[in-house]
Amino acid sequence: MKDPVAVRVAALPPLREAIAAAGFSAKKSLGQNFLLDINLTRRIARAAGPLDVGTTIEIGPGPGGLTRALLIEGATALIAVERDARAAAALAPLVAAAEGRLQLVEADALDVDTATLGAAPRRIVANLPYNVATRLLLGWLETPSAFESLTLMFQKEVADRLLAEPGAEAYGRLSVLVQWLCVVRRVTDLPPSAFTPAPKVWSSVVRLQPRPEPSHPADRRTLEKVTEAAFGQRRKMLRQSLKGLGGDALLAAAGIEPTMRPERLAVADFCRLANTLTDRESRR
Ligand code: SAM
Repeated sequence: MKDPVAVRVAALPPLREAIAAAGFSAKKSLGQNFLLDINLTRRIARAAGPLDVGTTIEIGPGPGGLTRALLIEGATALIAVERDARAAAALAPLVAAAEGRLQLVEADALDVDTATLGAAPRRIVANLPYNVATRLLLGWLETPSAFESLTLMFQKEVADRLLAEPGAEAYGRLSVLVQWLCVVRRVTDLPPSAFTPAPKVWSSVVRLQPRPEPSHPADRRTLEKVTEAAFGQRRKMLRQSLKGLGGDALLAAAGIEPTMRPERLAVADFCRLANTLTDRESRR
């Protein structure tokens, strides 16, 4: 480790001490489950890298476990967005050690225009607060090209949905939309014991890489409308769940069996349905 900032950060007192000194007790309402193991946070930081170009954006640094790892692994411009005002005191020694590489933004990430933070290329890295994780992700994916990658910790059940393929129980609207926009891979699964305090569920780190273009051409809102209708009644045949959008006629025009259930359709099929719906609506 030759980088002087990395050396300084690695030499800071242990995170547990920083947390105790700042009186930073975890708040459940803010989804605070901290990662204290530096080997683990460095592994996540490496999966998000390389970090030495553009801007690394961390959501919810809390007391700074992952933040330390990102600086040690070479982040040269790191912006950390945190809603809990108590974090500033815990992070102060880290901000000093980072010598201008770390900027703390005290704000609710739901209100921040993350797509314009810092210089491109931008990557988001976060151990997300689980209560707003999906909302945050869908917000970022409104402008997928603003991000080079998103390396994010979710509860495993959500990660499974992001990665699910047709036929899997976890396959649904989120799988279709996210895989349409991004290449998704699982980095690792973590047991509750990896966190302090331990949550009730397993967690997973997922890396999402926005595609230069969606996997198949389609209008996003129409695709959302079709998947919402189809998976809104996932046990039903498509002819039933898509009745309000054209039912049998829509399915016939798209070349899809009306007796199929939504979990059998691939992303390409949903895009074909969306395009058929767009055509039919424009001809009305
Ligand atoms: N990054 C730290 C770690 O890995 O140990 C903390 C992760 S903890 C799961 C989630 C963090 O997100 C907490 O620090 C919490 O205060 C913060 N947070 C919760 N809701 C937030 C929001 N809406 N905007 C920004 N930060 C938020």
